[in-house]
Amino acid sequence: MKKKVVVIGSGLGGAAIGALLQHQGRFDVTLLEKNNLIGGRYATYEKKTDEGIFKLDVGCHLIANCNNGTMGEVLKRIGKNDSVQWSYARRPKPAFYFLGERIDFPKEVNKLGIPNEDLFNLLNLMRDVTQFTEEDLKKLDDEQVDMRTFLKRYTSDPKALSLFSFFAGMEFVIPDYLTAASEWIVCQRQMSTNKSSGYPIGGCGSVPRAYCNNIEENGGKLILQAPVKEILIENNEATGVKLEDGTVHPADIVISNAGFKHTVLDLVGKDHFSEEFTQKVESYEYSLATFQIKIALDEKITDEKMIMYIGEEIDVDSFDRQAISEMLARGEYPEEFPIVFAPIVSNMDPSLCPEGKQLIFAGAGCPTAAQGFDPKKHHEKVQNSILNGIKNVLPKIEDHLLWIDSSSPHDIEKFAGESGTVIGIAQTINQVGKNRPKQELPIKNLYCCCADTGLHGIGGELAVDSALRLYNKLI
Ligand SMILES: Cc1cc2nc3c(=O)[nH]c(=O)nc-3n(C[C@H](O)[C@H](O)[C@H](O)COP(=O)(O)OP(=O)(O)OC[C@H]3O[C@@H](n4cnc5c(N)ncnc54)[C@H](O)[C@@H]3O)c2cc1C
Repeated sequence: MKKKVVVIGSGLGGAAIGALLQHQGRFDVTLLEKNNLIGGRYATYEKKTDEGIFKLDVGCHLIANCNNGTMGEVLKRIGKNDSVQWSYARRPKPAFYFLGERIDFPKEVNKLGIPNEDLFNLLNLMRDVTQFTEEDLKKLDDEQVDMRTFLKRYTSDPKALSLFSFFAGMEFVIPDYLTAASEWIVCQRQMSTNKSSGYPIGGCGSVPRAYCNNIEENGGKLILQAPVKEILIENNEATGVKLEDGTVHPADIVISNAGFKHTVLDLVGKDHFSEEFTQKVESYEYSLATFQIKIALDEKITDEKMIMYIGEEIDVDSFDRQAISEMLARGEYPEEFPIVFAPIVSNMDPSLCPEGKQLIFAGAGCPTAAQGFDPKKHHEKVQNSILNGIKNVLPKIEDHLLWIDSSSPHDIEKFAGESGTVIGIAQTINQVGKNRPKQELPIKNLYCCCADTGLHGIGGELAVDSALRLYNKLI
């Protein structure tokens, strides 16, 4: 007899574990998703306009290792390697603007104004990153070494440090002085080895969709618009789930992709856990959030695939992502946002928009509702601030703008939860390695599989890491 598995949520972690288990043959998976779109924060939706159909991502826009990372690994394991095609963010390589000036990296590294001795030490850092052993990494975790403290072993130059801080912000969505050094090293090493950052053809949603198609092709079930209200527990054992409309789905195993805190505190409820456990769950801290704008243009104005912009108004001596977030939380949005990350997604995948048009995503840091973001008061301000920031690099946007769509943290919160944050439970020094939330909950046959319970990886790859690890345990 096959084991009945109910998966709650079609985010990357849920879709991946569902596909792996259904493909294995000994499990019968039913995946329940509250929205009418597959993929959670990795979903892609269609916007029908007079110019034709545009495909827009809910949140995400760049994948660290594409087919060479955890997402590709799951596709290989379910025999669907070819069901997602990848477009790499190279030729042209990412355009990098530092303090307003375009720098051809690494050829023009001297333009950064970092002293030669520090540049030499940073080269050593890149070499060391490839040579760290598991034991070295564990030591960094045990000593709770953060990324900035670690980098100061190599450089004290403020420009160099703020540059790394910018990258930590982009990858882990927390300040570098909170980011676990070990996690940065693991992810950096993976990316330098694989050199395959990019974008999935058809939008980010192609990946969770490929996993869900596989669940159905192998006889499993996918039910959309099926919000789970409660995980049913009898004698400290998960026995199934109850939907908002009262429907019960019995199960031998329940796997929740719906976020660690939401699963424990709302779907199961505090009464089923010790006070010590729920206090621990409540104490986990989320990453910061971003605000994404999706800019549609009536013609192609750039051949770039990726633009990273740090404006000249940034004070590198005191650059601090947390401080910027706090400033924004007070409602102080600059006229032009000084740090913008902009993938020109239609140059990586022209099928995302009608022929001849262009689609640019641009994202920047933004507080969550809990931190003071008021959608009514701030939405337009932030949107204009990001648009003005990217116009510094792409001034022609002004003349070719068709429309702008956006995802604020408020929108993400409504869609996928976790206060609209990018990562969910952050990869801070005290929340990685042995301190990461566990997949096994203290209730029999109940597991949590999402970015919160992934051990290593950037964004979506962290969520799929969780699926691969849980799969190994369950079989
Ligand atoms: C704005 C933004 C930009 C990002 N950019 C990138 C990027 O460029 N690259 C990258 O790799 N990552 C990026 N990320 C991070 C990435 O999207 C997430 O790490 C990843 O998608 C999380 O996957 P997950 O498995 O944890 O599930 P989630 O995406 O959190 O999905 C959880 C799912 O569970 C469902 N659910 C919740 N509660 C219930 C319930 N009660 N019943 C039924 N269903 C339920 C939700 O509807 C959702 O579909 C970004 C995230 C955001 C928000």
